[in-house]
Amino acid sequence: MGASRTTTMTIAEVEDFAFRILRDNGLAAHQAGPIARAMAVTEAAGSQSHGLYRLIGYVGSIRSGRVNALAQPQFERIAGSFMRVDGDNGFAPPAHAVGVKALIDAAETNGIAALALTNCYHFSALWHDLDPIVSAGLACWAFTIGQCIVAPHGGTRRLMGTNPIAFGWPREDRRPFVFDFATSSVARGEIELMSRAGKTLPQGWGVDASGQPTLDPEAALAGALLPFGGYKGSALSMMVELLAGPMIGEPTSRQAAAFDNGDGGPPIGGELLIAMSPAVFNTGLAKNWQRQAEGFFADARTQPGIRLPSDRRHAARQRSEADGISVPNTLLDELRKLSLADDLRSVPAMKAGPEAI
Ligand code: NDP
Repeated sequence: MGASRTTTMTIAEVEDFAFRILRDNGLAAHQAGPIARAMAVTEAAGSQSHGLYRLIGYVGSIRSGRVNALAQPQFERIAGSFMRVDGDNGFAPPAHAVGVKALIDAAETNGIAALALTNCYHFSALWHDLDPIVSAGLACWAFTIGQCIVAPHGGTRRLMGTNPIAFGWPREDRRPFVFDFATSSVARGEIELMSRAGKTLPQGWGVDASGQPTLDPEAALAGALLPFGGYKGSALSMMVELLAGPMIGEPTSRQAAAFDNGDGGPPIGGELLIAMSPAVFNTGLAKNWQRQAEGFFADARTQPGIRLPSDRRHAARQRSEADGISVPNTLLDELRKLSLADDLRSVPAMKAGPEAI
């Protein structure tokens, strides 16, 4: 029997742990709060690549001074249903927190509304941004650029970001249908975790610095990832560049890369959220949209082997609420070193995880 390899933490403990590390590195409480919450919720959903692991990059960009640790996001209504939050060169979750209620209200009133988050750093899972909007009964799309590490289909050099797209649909008495994925073969964080775990990449995920196909995660990180789905994913990624870039007056991922100082944090950039009420085209057909959509989902579920996007995430959340979240001790040790606070070095010590074999 060896030493324990994981520690089991509650969702609240993960949030508190993240919050204290961010605060200890000088991030204002109104910035650290929404980030720590997003991190805990994402970790609880089993999406480790955007959970606690991200603290390393967040702290890197605070310490390098690239991100404004005291940023005060500013809300502005541009016209009718169009609004913007200037993130003041801070992180995206606090900017989202400032604008999300106004987006929901405007979409409920006018049928459709758009919120641009600008001048900020997005480092979290997009589905988390959608959840409150979709839970309010609205359909929603979200787009943001990612780190510039993706070559276009047929190309060999970086041009685009990992550029995730998320879409959500509200459901009656059920958790919303949400999908959210990078338009690259995989999110960059996953490649980093595969590299740490000594894994090789599947065929077609990346090319090395000379543009040759590679299965080595480090070589792909030094070269470029490829889009998913060949030319189709490549075109979707270009759409994200345009919607989260020129459409809202923000840089494309290639332009944003010019500001990257290698501190491991996210690129400067924007996010576009578009919310729409399904009731808009259903006047006189009260709730028809809901019945029809539920019929569609029920039909999909009759096929053995299918699952809906979000099913895994919702199940993981339930497990985390019941049993806690299992966090590798190696990661916790690494994260504790990011803190200057003595008490953080000793917490959390909630429950020992499975023993090493
Ligand atoms: P995945 O390839 O893991 O795909 C995730 C989506 O596909 C989820 O909605 C997932 O649902 C769904 N899904 C996965 N497998 C199935 C299946 N068999 N049947 C039906 N649905 C399925 O995600 P990525 O690695 O591309 O992206 C991971 C995360 O990285 C995203 O949250 C994204 O927002 C984030 N990201 C953030 C960036 C940033 O700059 N902020 C940049 C790039 C990515 P489920 O969750 O239930 O498994």
